[in-house]
Amino acid sequence: MNAPTDATEVFGRNVFSERVMRERLPRETFTALTTTIERGAPLTAEVADVVANAMKDWAIERGATHYTHWFQPLTGGTAEKHDAFISPREDGSIIMEFSGKQLTRGEPDAPSFPSGGLRSTFEARGYTAWDCTSHAFLKKDAAGNVTLCIPTAFCSYTGLALDTKTPLLRSMGAVSKQATRVLHALGHTTTTRVVSTVGPEQEYFLVDKQFYSQRLDLMVTGRTLFGAPPPKGQELEDQYFGAIKDRVSTFMRDLDVELWLMGITSKTKHNEVAPAQYENAPIFATANIAADHNQLIMETMQKVALRHNLVCLLHEKPYAGVNGSGKHNNWSLSTDDGINLLDPGTTPHDNEQFLIFLCALIQSIDKHADILRASAASAGNDLRLGGNEAPPAVVSIFLGEELTQVLMSIAKGEAVAAKNRDVLQIGVDTLPPLPKDNTDRNRTSPFAFTGDKFEFRMVGSSASISDANTVLNTIVAEALDEFATRLERADNINAEAAAIVRDVVERHGRVLFNGNSYAEEWLEEAAGRGLPNIQSTVAALNSVVTPKAVDLFGTRGVLSEQELRSRHEIQLERYAKQINVEAVSAIEMAHKQYVPAIIEYAAKLGQAVQQTAGAGVSTTVQKELLTRVNDLLHSAYSRLQILESELAKAQTVADVRKQAETYRDDVVPAMSDLREDIDRLEMLLPKDRWPVPSYTDMMFKL
Ligand code: ADP
Ligand code: MG
Repeated sequence: MNAPTDATEVFGRNVFSERVMRERLPRETFTALTTTIERGAPLTAEVADVVANAMKDWAIERGATHYTHWFQPLTGGTAEKHDAFISPREDGSIIMEFSGKQLTRGEPDAPSFPSGGLRSTFEARGYTAWDCTSHAFLKKDAAGNVTLCIPTAFCSYTGLALDTKTPLLRSMGAVSKQATRVLHALGHTTTTRVVSTVGPEQEYFLVDKQFYSQRLDLMVTGRTLFGAPPPKGQELEDQYFGAIKDRVSTFMRDLDVELWLMGITSKTKHNEVAPAQYENAPIFATANIAADHNQLIMETMQKVALRHNLVCLLHEKPYAGVNGSGKHNNWSLSTDDGINLLDPGTTPHDNEQFLIFLCALIQSIDKHADILRASAASAGNDLRLGGNEAPPAVVSIFLGEELTQVLMSIAKGEAVAAKNRDVLQIGVDTLPPLPKDNTDRNRTSPFAFTGDKFEFRMVGSSASISDANTVLNTIVAEALDEFATRLERADNINAEAAAIVRDVVERHGRVLFNGNSYAEEWLEEAAGRGLPNIQSTVAALNSVVTPKAVDLFGTRGVLSEQELRSRHEIQLERYAKQINVEAVSAIEMAHKQYVPAIIEYAAKLGQAVQQTAGAGVSTTVQKELLTRVNDLLHSAYSRLQILESELAKAQTVADVRKQAETYRDDVVPAMSDLREDIDRLEMLLPKDRWPVPSYTDMMFKL
């Protein structure tokens, strides 16, 4: 047993944090850098040189030999290229050097990152630029290598975004600007900046490495392409919040320490709904830092799991039939003078402010439900959304009965029921108290108000949270812009605020739904309300290149039409490639593992029939079983051939969108058909004749 870890002692030890900067930088450098971090003022070359040198000394004292510009290309993951600090001297020796230039700008020289045609049209290469709003940190690997990681944005030379961070930063600027305008119009003039805050809850599965290594599908696609349902799934609900097994809690403890060292506030850990499924959540941070930290959390989970002979599965649906994994993206807006704008507050003024920001969300989610849905689209999430314990593909908002009632009453100019009072005047009266109780809150809604923040539950577990938060910030900025203009022009602010609430409820109230979003009836009702129900990734992605989307992102300066189109293409391509890998793996497993094992077993049964008949007794059972196995084998084999031909056809489609559609419409169903037969065979064959570990092995033997 390791000694318990003192969190206060390890926390942030590997971060070039504000505290370290204050200690190590001359006062004027520190002030200049802080101004850049907070207000985006340009950084001079002198300041950059001083910061770089201090960073290098700090890193070298801690064993670092290399630095890397750490960035998030459009693969959805992260990328790094390591450079040693060494620099040659004339006498043939070296010194350790790190200049301001090396800190602020890098050239990863990596033309093979996806760019959707952007760079080939403009420039051959992209460059990385230091994002000083996210702290530099040290990464240590098991072999003892220490690398200074500098969070960076990745752009083309013409300034086009080639990553997920750049649009997120732009969207944070957009929402800050409009939220500040609204606050000023409401008379709250002390605010100069508003940040979007995010706390992502990360779900994942753990599986024993020995089982994982025997499953080609898990290794190359991250999910099981075959597997009969285990006798016990999650129906007893005994796993959720259950006692954590020792092996898993040892993993979780190591994970916590690794995360704390990097300054990540890992706080909550528990068992999730499905067997062998877990969750980790940090304390919320600014959207940008939360996105960086979430990437590090995913990476660290996978690294630490291996040390325990476990593999961490981040796929949205590793196992059919049980809960998939997502990220609950908790989102709010917070002012630089410390106010959470989605907190209803207690004074009439606070309430008014809250209602305006709440209405901005309602309007923007209804107007851009399709774009928000697209931000959570991936091949993996197609298997999760609408499945067990996951929100449907219809975007709706849960506010709770009380808050919904308040909005409705204001909109209709009625007495507010909760208090038997007269017509509630926004900005003059206080709202009736809203329950902040977590216990009975709606867990089926894709977008739920949870007392002082919203929880967006559609994001897939393997995805970067940047896209979803870029969309949230941008759509809310648009609504706030409209409201700010109205409030700025109004003679009577309170009356205008009430009018805004009325208009929003009238025009966008259809997006509010407090019932069970998992119910079939809801899908019908949603259709009646005209809410989009976009089932597949391929369809969802179309919403990012509509004139509405181009206008939204363009006006806010978040993504140009060209950037949107390139992203669209990259995502369609990624979808097609992912399904292609799945289909190739399924075919390989069928040919090399399943079919031979089944043929062998059928032969064994054939022998058994003969031998048993030779003994002069009845062979009906042996024959019956042989017939069932043989029939399924025939069916499986013909479905395998169909899959092969559908795949071959899909591979030759030239147009990206058509190709993605072909994979979705022809290849995916052919894979499911094959799986159906193979899974039925798995239930008939003896365990020791089945060539791969079963669902029971993977989910229950931990
Ligand atoms: P749950 O019951 O959904 O697990 P928690 O209270 O554990 O909810 O919070 C989930 C996440 O929400 C945490 O990461 C938490 O830090 C985050 N969170 C709390 N307040 C805010 C906020 N104002 N903005 C963004 N995220 C927040
Ligand atoms: Mg939650």
